[in-house]
Amino acid sequence: MRRALKKGRAKARAFAAFLALFASLSALFGAFGCTPAPAPAKTTFAAMDTVMTLTVYGGESDALDAAKARVLDLEALLSVTDPDSDVSALNRAGTAALSPDTADLLGRALELCERTGGALDVTIYPVVRAWGFTTGDYTVPDGDTLAALLEKVDYTEVRLEGDTASLPAGAEIDLGAVAKGYAGDALAALLREKGVESALLELGGNIHTVGSKPDGSDWRVAVRDPADKEGYLGVVSVSNKAVVTSGGYERYFEQDGVRYWHIMDPRTGAPARSGLASVTVAADSGLYADALSTALFVMGREAALDYWRAHRDFEAVLVSEDGSVTVTAGLEGSFTLSGARTLSVARP
Ligand code: ADP
Ligand code: MG
Repeated sequence: MRRALKKGRAKARAFAAFLALFASLSALFGAFGCTPAPAPAKTTFAAMDTVMTLTVYGGESDALDAAKARVLDLEALLSVTDPDSDVSALNRAGTAALSPDTADLLGRALELCERTGGALDVTIYPVVRAWGFTTGDYTVPDGDTLAALLEKVDYTEVRLEGDTASLPAGAEIDLGAVAKGYAGDALAALLREKGVESALLELGGNIHTVGSKPDGSDWRVAVRDPADKEGYLGVVSVSNKAVVTSGGYERYFEQDGVRYWHIMDPRTGAPARSGLASVTVAADSGLYADALSTALFVMGREAALDYWRAHRDFEAVLVSEDGSVTVTAGLEGSFTLSGARTLSVARP
């Protein structure tokens, strides 16, 4: 009997202690009774000709610094304007032993040039430079100049054996259309190795998401409105994906009332005028999304949708110059248009 009473008291004390603990934990975690999000670590810096912001939840304490250092290392290898980069060494000498990252990216970029039927062409650099996009000394080259430069544009002429690359005389490469996508993939892999399960990597117009938001919901990525610098067109909800936009509004100049932008049609050597104002691609791989956002912009709406129907390994938002918006079927439930526009959904 006594023992039973003692036992009962001990139980009651344990219960009271549990209640007290529960109350203090609830106070700590807020009124909603859910686990609080860990505080994010965040850094903003300039790299690869744009502004980057990395927001990382959890993981090892050096994860953010390591990620930033990785981007800066890649920039030093891949920049077409830095005379000390791998790419510049190759362009100058016509042949070069590349670092593993540069060789890896060049090999995969050449496959993507092939896959997109040459809409992406990494040998476009002599043309991009002639228009002044690398220096800012913009000019509209004459037809003869462009015809001569176009003779040097042909990705099938690039040789890559092991880590050694070579180019025909006069040819030069530019990995600008794919470098940020590759960097996004590299950062996501590095952060996962360091135990990060949730991160938002904003590499200029390339957004790379690791996992979902700390509360388990999808990241909401805004898609810019090509016709309005301040506004956005809509929001795409994703987890574990890269969302990359290319558009004529990003970098351009105007002459005699005509706008010339930095995405070139390798067939003409002039800015691609396909009727599209911007292309946003959502895919598992940042490299693929980056390559495709540029290539689909060059192809135009119909060819872009044909490409999607033939591959089905990405989703896209296509904004035409007339303002109409098309999303591929896989985004039907996850893309929300912000204004009063009409949205059409492309079916397989
Ligand atoms: P951004 O770098 O502004 O995000 P993109 O990913 O579309 O935009 O890449 C555009 C850059 O790629 C240009 O600045 C140029 O250096 C290069 N480029 C332009 N046209 C092509 C093309 N058709 N194929 C490969 N690279 C291109
Ligand atoms: Mg691109």
